[in-house]
Amino acid sequence: MIYIKKDYGSALELRIDVYEDEFYCTCPRCGKEVHLDEKMLKELVNCDCDFVGTAFLCNECSSQGYSER
Ligand SMILES: [Zn+2]
Repeated sequence: MIYIKKDYGSALELRIDVYEDEFYCTCPRCGKEVHLDEKMLKELVNCDCDFVGTAFLCNECSSQGYSER
């Protein structure tokens, strides 16, 4: 299981279970919310890049041929 763990201080620790259909990022071009599906998540895990530096274009932008660069 993957979960998000965020420490808000000594007293409070928030732990959220994460399921594969709950990953989102924002499109770096138009800012639209992009839902990460299982395929994209696998790509993300396999590509050896960090989550922060990773961005997926939304369907619209990627279909218009914009690159992520
Ligand atoms: Zn977009």
